[in-house]
Parts: sequence; structure tokens; C-alpha cells
Amino acid sequence: MSAGTTDVINPSTEQVVATIASASAEETDEAVALAAAALPAWRAVAPADRARLLRRFAESVDDHLEELAWLEVANAGHTIANARWEAGNVRDVLHYYSAAPERLMGRQIPVEGGVNVTFKEPLGVVGVIVPWNFPMPIAGWGMAPALAAGNAVVLKPAEMTPLTAVRLGELALEAGLPEGVLQVVTGKGSVVGQRLVDSPLVAKIVFTGSTEVGRGIMAGCAQHVKRVTLELGGKNANIVFADADLARAAAAAPSGVFDNAGQDCCARSRILVQRSVYDEFMTLLEPAVTRIRVGDPGDEATEMGPLISAGHHRKVASYVPDDALVAFRGSAPDGPGYWFAPTVLAPVQTSDPAFTDEVFGPVVTVVAFDDEQDAVRIANDTEYGLSGSIWTRDLGRALRTARAVEAGNLSVNSNSSVRYSTPFGGFKQSGLGRELGPDALEAFTETKNVYIATED
Ligand code: NAP
Ligand code: MG
Repeated sequence: MSAGTTDVINPSTEQVVATIASASAEETDEAVALAAAALPAWRAVAPADRARLLRRFAESVDDHLEELAWLEVANAGHTIANARWEAGNVRDVLHYYSAAPERLMGRQIPVEGGVNVTFKEPLGVVGVIVPWNFPMPIAGWGMAPALAAGNAVVLKPAEMTPLTAVRLGELALEAGLPEGVLQVVTGKGSVVGQRLVDSPLVAKIVFTGSTEVGRGIMAGCAQHVKRVTLELGGKNANIVFADADLARAAAAAPSGVFDNAGQDCCARSRILVQRSVYDEFMTLLEPAVTRIRVGDPGDEATEMGPLISAGHHRKVASYVPDDALVAFRGSAPDGPGYWFAPTVLAPVQTSDPAFTDEVFGPVVTVVAFDDEQDAVRIANDTEYGLSGSIWTRDLGRALRTARAVEAGNLSVNSNSSVRYSTPFGGFKQSGLGRELGPDALEAFTETKNVYIATED
């Protein structure tokens, strides 16, 4: 029995763009059973053929890149430029992991009396639970390495943003992936997602979303000692030292936090500026913020779209009460849509909720620090540890600070955190495990050791 339907809303217009099925727990079980039934044949596909299927899937995504990108503009309010990058990222991640089936190499370890070899065995059925902020890339980061390693995937998109995931599932079938190997099940986290966590037939959960839900998923997985990868929140520091190229650091800071309207776990939402250059930095930052083009995400010139929903808008707005210390803010359209102007709060106390909580919106806080030690102390004074930036011309300081900041992904003189060929993930309560790059394959395989006696 189906659990009904959900209206999918365009966050720029507040219009319904589609009505999508909400699967029940029983329907989720059926998908898991189909995935489990597809596993033996999928594992048996020759490595070169599995590689070829993933390449065909990647090419199909590329052929439908515009369609996928415009779906995301309508469903999530992402700017068309970002949405094209996101669809391209799915293609690239599939291409990257299409090389893996033929390179999943074990080891031969010297032992007495025989030969010892290791194998990288698939886990089985993998549940991938995706949030609404980056529906396409996060789906790709979970499914591509899982499929490459010989697992079957049941993917649950966020209830608010299912459209691109549903289309990716269709493209996989058209590209020739066998039925049941990749299924997209739409519905509520509390029903479909929870069922994937509880099902004894699901060997692993890959979850991206809030730390709170992630904690519950980890506890649920513990019942079956189920494998789990968690990508949770972030409250990332952008540390600007006095010797940095201040003009570059200030010009880059807005996109480092306001990209995707700040709905990014890697958003650099705490800017830490060395006290001696604080005023100069703020003077450079202001025009970079006020000139951000916020509006119709389908317009090629737009740099920032709306927030995802009315409820999320309320949450973000609660961090900017009437008496908030707004240093300056950009603009946002009036009328329908969940618009929020890019907002800079300064000077803030390090105890201010806008400075400590993951706002997940276009709100950035700025504080001054005294020296390197002080910067590292403030940067690490959080439960989170996902990403961060360090701006300095001193190579020694850049490396010392990068090593001292407790986060999984740091960039020097740049705000970019994500490359499909390098590992991505969090320290502390930002998560568990690593996605992307060579590391992700470890997360989708189990090492098996086999000893073969050779003595007579
Ligand atoms: P969320 O509740 O953690 O949702 C993430 C995903 O988990 C969605 O697919 C959701 O389904 C599903 N889910 C929810 N409850 C579940 C359960 N009990 N068992 C299994 N799956 C479950 O995140 P949210 O409510 O969308 O956003 C809340 C806050 O989380 C944001 O404001 C932000 O601070 C943070 N967040 C972080 C990231 C990140 O990239 N790290 C991404 C998104 C949100 P439904 O969509 O059906 O609820
Ligand atoms: Mg939620």
C-alpha cells in the first residue's frame, strides 16, 4: 500500500511543479528485496562490463545534462550555472568510479606454507539517503562507488527534492544497468529512510544531512552492526591572516558562504580576520556582498537563488532578529519565493547562535582574532569539523594552521573543498568516514582474507 503523494514546490515561485509518490515501509521492503535479488548477477558481471555500464550511465547523464540542470532549477531553486555543474559532477563521479571495477585490487601477503590473498568484496544492498541541498552530487557520491564495487543501491532523495534523482534512476536503466541494481524510492525520511536503516537486508547506510538525524541513524544501524557513512553539518572557518592578499580573500569570501544560498555543509559561515586588518577587510568585503545578484535562478547572470522552503526560511530568519548586528546586507527580490538577502553579521560574540549554529542560509558572521594560536582556538571551538579556509602568503603558517584546524577538508588561498578525485568528509560531529576519491571504495567493500595451503 502506498503512503500517498507529496507536492514538489518550486522555491522561487511557490508553485507546485510535480506530485510524487510517497512510498510506504512495505514498498521500501519490496525495493530492498528486489535489490537483494539483483545482487548475485550484478556481482558476477565481468569487471570490464561493469565498467562499461557505468561509463554508459555517465554518458547518458551528459546527454541529459541540460534537462537535469533545469529540473534542479525548478525543484531546488539552484542557479542554472550551479545546476549544470551539479549534473556534470554526477557524470564525472560516474566516470571516475567506472575505472574502479578493474582496479579493485587485493594484496598478496607473504606467509608460511602457502599463499595469502585479500579480496575486496561488495557489502550487499546499500541505502543512500540524500538531503535537499545538493540532490544530484550527493546522490552521485553515494551510488557511483557503491555500484562500482558491486553493490546494489536503494536511493532515497529528500522529500522536497526528488525530481533529479528519479530521472537519474531512469537514465541508469536506459543505459543498461540491470533492473534492481539502482532503485530510487521517493518518500519520507521517517518512513522510507527509517526502513532502510532498520531493514536487516540493507548492509550499509550512506547518510548526508543534519547531525541530529545522523545520530539517530547511527544508533539504528548499531542494532545490526550495519556499516554507516555520515556526512553531517559544518560551521566552517575562513581564516584571514594580516599577510594575506586581502583583496582576493574579500572577493572570494561571499561565494565561499553564499553559494547555493548558504545551504552548503562546507559554507564558510565564520570569517575570522586578524585584528590589524579587520577594518580594511570589512571595507573590501562590503561591495563584494552588496553586488551579489540574487534572483531568478534560471537567469544565467544570477549568482544566488532562494532558500528551499518556507519552513527553512523561518529557521534562517530566526538568526537575524531585529536587533541583530547587521554590518551590511545585499538585496533579494520581493514577492513569491523564499528569498533571503545575503547578510553579514559583525561584530558578533563567539557565543552568538549565528556564530555557533549551522544556519544553512546566506548569513555570515565575522570576528577578529589576535594571532595564529587565537585563530586556531576559535576555529576549533565547535562540535563540527568539516571544512575551512586559510588565507596567508606564509607557507609555513598555511601548513601549520591547516594541520591544527580540526576539519576534514581545508583549502589555502581558496574556498573550494570538493573534488571528485580527493577524499571528502568530516572530523568530530561533522561525520564518519570519507566519500569520493580513492577512499570511498573502502567504504563500499569488505576485506576478505584467503589462505591457500601449498604444502604437500
Ligand atoms: P535531515 O532531516 O537530516 O534530512 C536528510 C535526509 O534524511 C532526507 O532525505 C530526510 O528525508 C532523511 N531523513 C529524515 N529523517 C530520517 C530518519 N529518521 N531516518 C532516515 N532518514 C531520515 O535534514 P533536513 O531536515 O532536510 O535539514 C535540517 C538541517 O540539517 C538543515 O537546516 C541543515 O542545518 C542540516 N543539513 C545538512 C546537510 C549537509 O549537507 N550536511 C544537508 C541538509 C541539511 P525527508 O526529506 O523526507 O525528511
Ligand atoms: Mg528533517
